[in-house]
Amino acid sequence: MRELFSFLPEERVLVDKEDLLLYAYDATPSRRYPIAVVRPVSTEEVAEIVRAASREGLSLVARGAGTSLSGAPLPCEGCVVVDFTLMDKIVEVDETNAFVAAQPGVVYEELNRELEKHGLFFPPDPGSGSVCTLGGMVAMNSSGIRAVKYGTTRDYVASLEVVLASGEVVKLGGKYKKSASGYDLKSLLVGSEGTLGLFTEVGLHVIPKPSHRAAMIASFNDFEKAAKAITKAVAGRLDIAVLEIMDSPVVEAVESFSGISLGSAEVLVLAEVEGFDTSVEEEIRRVAQIFAEAGASVELAFDEAEIAKMWKARKAALPALARLASTLLLEDITVPVSALPEMMLRIRALAEKHKIRIATFGHAGDGNLHPTFLADSEEELGRARAAIEELFRECLALGGTLTGEHGIGIEKRPYFELEHGKAAQVMRDIKRALDPGNVFNPGKIF
Ligand SMILES: Cc1cc2nc3c(=O)[nH]c(=O)nc-3n(C[C@H](O)[C@H](O)[C@H](O)COP(=O)(O)OP(=O)(O)OC[C@H]3O[C@@H](n4cnc5c(N)ncnc54)[C@H](O)[C@@H]3O)c2cc1C
Repeated sequence: MRELFSFLPEERVLVDKEDLLLYAYDATPSRRYPIAVVRPVSTEEVAEIVRAASREGLSLVARGAGTSLSGAPLPCEGCVVVDFTLMDKIVEVDETNAFVAAQPGVVYEELNRELEKHGLFFPPDPGSGSVCTLGGMVAMNSSGIRAVKYGTTRDYVASLEVVLASGEVVKLGGKYKKSASGYDLKSLLVGSEGTLGLFTEVGLHVIPKPSHRAAMIASFNDFEKAAKAITKAVAGRLDIAVLEIMDSPVVEAVESFSGISLGSAEVLVLAEVEGFDTSVEEEIRRVAQIFAEAGASVELAFDEAEIAKMWKARKAALPALARLASTLLLEDITVPVSALPEMMLRIRALAEKHKIRIATFGHAGDGNLHPTFLADSEEELGRARAAIEELFRECLALGGTLTGEHGIGIEKRPYFELEHGKAAQVMRDIKRALDPGNVFNPGKIF
């Protein structure tokens, strides 16, 4: 391997088992070893890596921070991992055009720390934002608690520099706000999970950072009432930036993990409104009224430290649940918000039917739930997998999608056709056209 990649310094070609172990995982339970890892620092090096791999018939799997929850960056049989974390420079912040260009290894929160100096921000806010990279976010079309107001990564991608399977470098898009010129290839590449090309630079439209925010916690003793109130709040055309839900198993786990007291409730709904003046306070009171009328006990927070504590608690959900069982299977179904109450009822019914523990939290404001299946034995894992298959069918029957943000990867691959039908073949044809040798991330999505 060192010979094939001899154009890279020796310390940036890893072949020792101990080094490869660091690349054998993501945030799913699976483990797979690559045969080597290469760590480029420039677009030219990435292009050279792709040409060398294509020549030798080797597959390449791009990797950012490895936080994927779908197996997307897991090495495939006999592949080489391309680790992008050394390509971590912010190339340009253009205040006039509210645009930033950065290498793919830049970490989400580090980018926002830099943007804050210019009064700007990049909103998607995934739970993994303190470590995940822009390359991973673009490849997965990541989003998070703010998607209900601000949308997903795709809504911000202005341009991409991409190394194609031929080793050629193409530039897609630009700083401009609109274009009617040809196919929108950059949007096709967003969410492609490293299967169509390798990003070497990401250009993003960013927005002014809001200066004011206000938040609400609503505690319900009836989860159906909570789900119905969420549907009403979303339909109410209120300017809600965040609308999150946590059921009682998640609340209990978070309290014992973080030490933050959230109060006892069957379901907690957390909301935030943000803007550029004190009108946010009026807006959060309107949101609170909907939840109070639906029977919740409501608390408002205007103090920055209180609000930060609330989001710290919400972001602790996944690590807190990880302490409850030896294996977690975290799902990412998304339904139209009108179907949220029914989806939540069906999740409960699945837990009872399969006698399995399911803890649910998620981005309720956009219908994106994370029912998390807890298993401590092979037998329990088998029941969880059977329940998950039913979960997917129920979600699709309600007009939903298998994944709102975590992608297909390996985990949801068997169900891809179920969601997309004949369109799955169109996607396969696109993959074949752009990557005829199947160099990039084989075995993912399809
Ligand atoms: C605790 C926790 C919370 C999370 N919360 C959220 C959340 O709220 N919202 C959300 O959307 N996700 C969430 N995730 C999932 C995950 O963090 C995101 O998908 C994240 O954006 C992945 O970034 P990464 O740098 O870790 O990418 P990786 O996991 O390393 O890779 C993800 C995919 O991107 C591809 N890729 C990486 N770099 C490139 C590149 N330069 N060119 C082409 N392809 C590339 C990889 O091949 C792979 O297919 C969470 C994960 C964890 C562990």
